[in-house]
Amino acid sequence: MSALPPDAPRLRAILRHLEEQIADNETLGIYLHLQRDAVRAALARAERKTAHRSQRPSRPRRPAPPPADAPDRGELRATGYVIEPKRHPKHPKPALIHLADCTAPQRDTMPVARDQARLGLVKDAEHIAACEVCAPGTSLGIED
Ligand SMILES: [Zn+2]
Repeated sequence: MSALPPDAPRLRAILRHLEEQIADNETLGIYLHLQRDAVRAALARAERKTAHRSQRPSRPRRPAPPPADAPDRGELRATGYVIEPKRHPKHPKPALIHLADCTAPQRDTMPVARDQARLGLVKDAEHIAACEVCAPGTSLGIED
């Protein structure tokens, strides 16, 4: 970036633009984290399945424990939260957290762990909201 304009109106416009970019990138960061965690969980499942198939143990073995930071398959199913992403990162409507069995989502949803759903709602209330139909905030212990 070279010289900035000297006048306040243009500087304010630039500042506003940058702040919007920062907000968008923070939101995107949360999505990417959620998505990464979902992929990690799927990968852990896939690897457990592969290991099970290729090793064919002669005696019963306990399955390997899941990685500490990956949501367990059972946990995902038990907590049952999904995120319905924004139409696109700049869309004014927030992404929505739903209960997994909610019928309101209009777009593809991704499963999220309970902690992640709560974190998204608490940390970025402007860009991630609770569905008004299934009200997942209630079971997440968030009520404002
Ligand atoms: Zn819902």
